[in-house]
Formats: sequence, structure tokens, C-alpha cells
Amino acid sequence: MTDFPTGLLFDDAMALLRETAAQRRLEAEYLALPRCHGRVLAQDVDASMPLPPFDNSAMDGFAFRHVDLAGDETTLRLAGEQFAGIAGNAALQPGECMRITTGAPMPANADTVAIKENCRVDGTNVIVPGATQAGANVRRAGEDVRIGDRVLETGSLLTPTRVSLAASLGLASLRVARKPTVAVFTTGDELVEPGMPLAPGQIYDSNRDLLMGLLRADGLEPTAWPRLPDDPRQVEIALRDAGCAFDLIITAGGVSAGEKDHLPGVLAQFGRTHFWKVKMKPGMPLLFGSLDQAHVLGLPGNPVSVLATYLTFGRALIDGMQGRLEPRQTWQAQLVAPLDKPHARREFVRGHLSSGRNGALHVEANAATGSHRLRAAADSNALIVVPEGAQRYAAGAVVEVIPL
Ligand code: AMP
Ligand code: MG
Repeated sequence: MTDFPTGLLFDDAMALLRETAAQRRLEAEYLALPRCHGRVLAQDVDASMPLPPFDNSAMDGFAFRHVDLAGDETTLRLAGEQFAGIAGNAALQPGECMRITTGAPMPANADTVAIKENCRVDGTNVIVPGATQAGANVRRAGEDVRIGDRVLETGSLLTPTRVSLAASLGLASLRVARKPTVAVFTTGDELVEPGMPLAPGQIYDSNRDLLMGLLRADGLEPTAWPRLPDDPRQVEIALRDAGCAFDLIITAGGVSAGEKDHLPGVLAQFGRTHFWKVKMKPGMPLLFGSLDQAHVLGLPGNPVSVLATYLTFGRALIDGMQGRLEPRQTWQAQLVAPLDKPHARREFVRGHLSSGRNGALHVEANAATGSHRLRAAADSNALIVVPEGAQRYAAGAVVEVIPL
């Protein structure tokens, strides 16, 4: 008897997970700007100043009034100099120019800059080329950002360029979502720590490194919990410990219906199950619930299932908890060979994405099937998303691709 949905369509499971994540959003915190990289913004940013803040020169050269140009070359009187960082109060008289450096405020009246390399200086005279366009080499106040412009929005990811834009507006701190704390569990009696000897029937634990790496690449600092044996009591103790200490528990293995798969039972008994089993391949036994204060995402143990479920549901959960509204980028690419999918589930196929000669992205599906084949994943740089239902793609068909 279950009182939670099972066997959900991918989109329905995703909607349920997003809804659950949104109900328990992490609080926001103010962080000094240098610590904001990779965070999700929890405020809008409206410009309180224009960018550039004042008219200034884009080049080292000479600033002058364009109306003073006549003929092929014009001789102007050098009236002074204007350097970056100095207030630009000087005004030019007719026939005058001023030496200027990149970023220096334009002198009053001046509207054009001739590049230093194109001018000749002769004592107190400067000969500037006549072909200089009006307004050349001048960066206008507000041409990039005007006062009041909404330059950054709640829910967007703080990339280096966005943090830098906030810096250019003089902001020393931003309100961002707290990052989730994450506990990672691998489970299975057969698992051995790399570096230790293997007994017959055992395999090395590869999922821990996979998950830790994926989470770190997403900017988190996961904690690897000791590996769990297939023992319900030990699974329970560890999960309940983690449940009151972390925002998110991610487990690998032990979520199917086998005799040794204890996670669904432990979660149902001591926590809450939101759904179990999603119509996807690989990754069908995916389990999602909560325990104490933590969300629990139970990934199936096969390494490629871990990859496919983390990149879809894991990321959606982490993003949702932080209130990220900006969707993750996926790509459209052309298949280089036909691809057949006879079954009904949504499938994630390992593939290699490359830039094709025709200017389109190309993706080549890896021939390996089998969610245990980690090497095929290591040789791939993308997952091809094949939608529900039987699909028969010809070479050249356009498919959605998640870059790894
Ligand atoms: P499970 O989901 O526990 O039934 O595991 C499915 C398959 O994945 C089994 O062949 C396991 O041996 C394998 N597996 C589970 N956990 C790991 C792990 N941490 N590293 C490598 N393989 C694993
Ligand atoms: Mg297992």
C-alpha cells in the first residue's frame, strides 16, 4: 500500500518536485560581492547611476570640437590634458584640443576624439586627420545602462559578468539565496573504497566521485557520508542523522524493489515520500521525499542513472530550493546517425556533441546501452533527450541535448 504517486511521467514528476522545492525555499542572505559568484540572486537590481557614468574617451588621443575640422588635416592648439580619474572641468575654446587618455572625462564642448596614433604633435599644435567622424571614440554617459534600468533580476544566476555589472554600479553586497547543504550517500554491500582490495563479488564505489563532482561543478560543497550497507537499521540511522543536519540528502542505490533496497521503506516510515519511480530511462526507480528538514532524492545505483537523474531532477531541486528562475541551457543538435527508441519512457542517451561543418551542432549517440556502462558516459559530453513514445529519428533530425 502506498499513499504517494508512483510511475509518474517525467514532466509530472518534475512539476511535483519543483512545486515541493518552491514550498521550502532556502532563506536569502546578504553577501559581500566577492562571495556572490555562482549564487542565485534574491533581489532585483535597478541602476542608481548611468553607465558609463559620464561622457569619456574610448581611446588615448586628442579631444576637440568636430565643427573645428576643415579639409584633410586641421591644426588645433593644444590647450591642456585630461587624464582618467580627474574631474573634467576644462572647456575648449574654438580651435583648441586637449590631450586625453582612455576613460578620461570629455572636456566640456568637446564631442570627438582623434586617436593618438593618427595625430602629429608639433610644439603646442596638434594636426588631426580630417576624416574623423563626429562623435568618434567617445563613450556616451548612459549608453550601456540608464538610471532606473533593471539590469539584474531575482532568480538569475550570478555569473562573473553579472557580479561585475553589480560592481560597476557600486554595489558592495547583494541579497542571494543561501546555498543548500548536501549530504551524499552511496549504498550497497558490494561497494569498496577505491584503493582498497576487492573481494570476489565486490566493485569499487564510483558513484560517490560522480555525485561529488557533479555537485561541486554546480557550485555546492557536498559532504560525503560513510558508505551505507544494505541494512535497513543503518540506513535509517544515517538518514535520520542527516535529515536534521542538511538541506538535501542525495543517495545512490537501494531505491528499486529488490530485497536489499531499503530506502523506499525507510523514507516511507520515517519521512515522507513525494513520488517513487519515474517513466524515464535510465533512472526509473528514482525516489523523492523529505525527512525532517531535508529533501531526499534517492537516485538509482547504476552510474548512468545517477548521471541522468542528477542532471534533471537533482539540478531542478537545487535550483528550485534557491529560487532560480533562469532555466538551465539545453541545446538543439542534429543527429549524425539514425536513432531508434522503441519503448515508451523518456530516454537519456549518451552522446558526443560537436560543432558541425554546416554551422549546426551535431550529436552522435553512443552505441553503448546499459546504465552500468560508465565508460560510455566518460566518452560522452552530452545526454540526448528522447521524448516519450516510440521514436524513430533519421540522420539529421534535430534533438534536444543536455551538455554534460
Ligand atoms: P541498486 O540501485 O542499488 O540496485 O544498484 C544498481 C546497480 O548499480 C548495481 O549493479 C550496483 O552494484 C551498482 N551500484 C550501486 N551503487 C554503486 C556505486 N556507488 N558505485 C558503482 N556502482 C554502484
Ligand atoms: Mg544496491
